[in-house]
Amino acid sequence: MSERERARTVVPFRAKVVEPIRLLSREERRSRMEAAGLCLFALKGDDVYVDLLTDSGTGSLSTQQLGAMMMGDESYAGSRSFDKMAGNFTALSGLPYVIPSHQGRGAEKVLNSVLVRKHSVVPGNSHFDTTKAHIEFAGGRCVDCTISAGLDSGAAHPFKGNLDVGKLRETIAHFGPRNVAYVLITITCNSGGGQPVSMENIREVSAHCREQGIAVFFDAARFAENAWFIKEREAGYADKHVREIVREMFSYVDGCTMSSKKDAIVPMGGLIAVRDAGLFEQLKTPTILFEGFYTYGGMSGMMMEALAQGLEDVMQEDYLRHRIGQVARLGAGLRAAGVPIVEPVGGHAVFIDGRRFYPGVPEDEFPAQLLCVEMYKEGGVRTCEIGANLIGRDPDTGENIRPALDLTRLAIPRRAYFQEHLDYVVDVVATVHEEQKGRTRGLALLHEAPGIRHFSSTFRYL
Ligand SMILES: *Cc1c(COP(=O)(O)O)cnc(C)c1O
Repeated sequence: MSERERARTVVPFRAKVVEPIRLLSREERRSRMEAAGLCLFALKGDDVYVDLLTDSGTGSLSTQQLGAMMMGDESYAGSRSFDKMAGNFTALSGLPYVIPSHQGRGAEKVLNSVLVRKHSVVPGNSHFDTTKAHIEFAGGRCVDCTISAGLDSGAAHPFKGNLDVGKLRETIAHFGPRNVAYVLITITCNSGGGQPVSMENIREVSAHCREQGIAVFFDAARFAENAWFIKEREAGYADKHVREIVREMFSYVDGCTMSSKKDAIVPMGGLIAVRDAGLFEQLKTPTILFEGFYTYGGMSGMMMEALAQGLEDVMQEDYLRHRIGQVARLGAGLRAAGVPIVEPVGGHAVFIDGRRFYPGVPEDEFPAQLLCVEMYKEGGVRTCEIGANLIGRDPDTGENIRPALDLTRLAIPRRAYFQEHLDYVVDVVATVHEEQKGRTRGLALLHEAPGIRHFSSTFRYL
């Protein structure tokens, strides 16, 4: 191992408090999976050994966060913990006005209720699902301007989350700048597999929007992971500290919404931050209606303390080096075992291509969902399908939509699992891959939940 490689394996924390987890017997796992109707969301947390369902709200708190939580100020208005949280976010981003929310989607609801009008459009890079739903709920529409490489699972590109500036220009020209509510850059691009956006792209998008008088916002859930990728992959940033990179990223935008359950490493919370005092005033009323008074917005003083410290924790470069390295190592382990993954691996998750994993299973028999089910049965590992079940039906025709990719997502909680857990996961996937090579039948929906179906629909084996 070279010194550089060894540096990537340094783990900048150790366990002080541990949470017991347990591997159920094969027989128990099989019966729990069947009782859950082959729906991973219907399993109990205690039925799961390694839980890779999501990286949202599942990170471990640091001793500094826990210590700070004891100092939480639960004042209804003007909480000291709010000042600390808002102050830290402003120091990080340069955005002067900060409003807390109960989680990311709360921030989205408040912001879109003010900025989006009927028939307005919000161009962006593969909007996150709740974000898209909130824009539509407010009467607007999303236009996906992700570069074409971002939609191709095999394409090699260092910044697959980038927006296609040509397509963005055309979109703005087509709808007219006045009908564009704002432009949204999601960092990193979650729906695209945690793929980063380059500084150059952020700068270009921002410059064009400023010319047109259009505001630019970040969906900033994974801002720190995005900054780390810029440091590692973009010319001119290798010697800059991530803190400087984050500051420059935010200098190009007018504001952001953020789920703090991701990079800010708290179990619950979110925020909106804006540059404009007038917009800040407009946001206060919907915040009070939907979230809570604008110095707590649905968060406790304790959680705002944890968030304030989480913003510090995530700006430690040794933390980010380990974090991104851990996800990359999981990807490398799966690749070495011959498992078809989406490349390059993003910041928070590894995605397995369900169709290539089960080449004999017809595309409409939910191969990625099948893999989720089989990984749980084989080793108590819980994952999430991002594919045919998630995407649902066309609201107009009622037909099942055929997504470009049918994926099983292995999302890695922050600071929670050891390399042993992830080596175990590789072994479980490799075993399923080896033993089920010739499988020809998948799953059919048993009970299909109306609306957002992937949380509660059940399946049967074909
Ligand atoms: C998680 C997430 C959201 C929504 O945040 P919640 O805290 O889950 O409500 C929005 N955008 C992105 C990119 C996310 O990852």
